[in-house]
Amino acid sequence: MPEAKETVLEINLGNLAHNYRYLRSKIDKDVKFLSVVKAHAYGSDSVAIAKKLEELGTDYFAVAYVEEGIRLRENGITKPILVLHPQFTHFEEIIEHCLEPNLYSEKILRSFIATAEKLKQKNYPVHIKLNTGLNRLGFDQPEIETVKELISTTPTLKIASVFSHLAASEDWQERDFTVGQIDLFRKMSWELIKDLEHEPLLHICNTSGVINYTKAAFSMVRTGIGLYGYGNDETVDPYLKPVGKLKTIISQIRKLDKGATVGYNRSFKVEKPSRIATLPVGHADGINRIYGKQKAGVFVNGEYAPIVGNVCMDIIMIDVTGIDCEEGDEVIVFGGPQHPVKFAEAGGTISYELITGIQRRVTRKIIPE
Ligand SMILES: *Cc1c(COP(=O)(O)O)cnc(C)c1O
Repeated sequence: MPEAKETVLEINLGNLAHNYRYLRSKIDKDVKFLSVVKAHAYGSDSVAIAKKLEELGTDYFAVAYVEEGIRLRENGITKPILVLHPQFTHFEEIIEHCLEPNLYSEKILRSFIATAEKLKQKNYPVHIKLNTGLNRLGFDQPEIETVKELISTTPTLKIASVFSHLAASEDWQERDFTVGQIDLFRKMSWELIKDLEHEPLLHICNTSGVINYTKAAFSMVRTGIGLYGYGNDETVDPYLKPVGKLKTIISQIRKLDKGATVGYNRSFKVEKPSRIATLPVGHADGINRIYGKQKAGVFVNGEYAPIVGNVCMDIIMIDVTGIDCEEGDEVIVFGGPQHPVKFAEAGGTISYELITGIQRRVTRKIIPE
């Protein structure tokens, strides 16, 4: 058995490369590829992931917040970085670090123009977000004239791209709604760009958009979850490889007789002579209480062992009765024999929340391609 020293999130760059090539193969060669690396690259390691994606040939990056973009710049990432959710308090830093803001409201647009004028910018690349039905961030159709007017009267900005975001691209039941969003995007973006002298990039597809609405790739796609190995669909998942694998180790094994109880609030009662193993991972690492009380389990030497009792802050207990194992053996929480989606589903959640929830105190170990 290879020995894990502690709880480790392995980040497999070979799997990332596989997923990148798979998603790339879905779209035309001249469509640009934006890699979403927000939230520590979906809970992994944004610098390692972005470096690999740059090597693979991604055209663009996106992060949610300015801090995340600065971290990439400080670590040598040179491709353009779109900041999806900036606040006006960070606009000077955006320009200092050559980051490109999403401008999603009149207030934000006016405020960025003021900063760009103050810092004497010319043709600074910005991205205009249109709301086509998600009703989260973005300009509505009646505001387009205002956007055009504001941008045409300042030399400081240049629209690098116009984009929108789909609300239900993974859900076939919402197909009509999605097609409606795509049509509205086509109309609104044309209204916005038709009088410009240059042609901004247009993009609306996220991962499930790339897979289910390939014809709506426009001139760029924005993929996040697919790069990390998840297709939001059990027919797509087999083509992708999860990048993250969460491993830990057995700290202690104890034998318990019938009637003994395990853990806080005595929430697991031993019904027959049992072997219970203790692992150094808990809800403070991102394995939430919801996974306890046998809702989910882990893999020990290839066999499933349920999590018993309540999940503690730094510890979970598993039932290893009948499993050939000893203290120091490796345990796989997810990845490998346990598809992370299955684990997430056992906790009533989705891949996105599981992987972005793995806390920073868990060691990240990069496995090169
Ligand atoms: C997070 C995000 C994405 C990536 O979506 P996936 O479903 O992970 O591919 C794309 N666009 C925007 C605006 C986002 O916030």
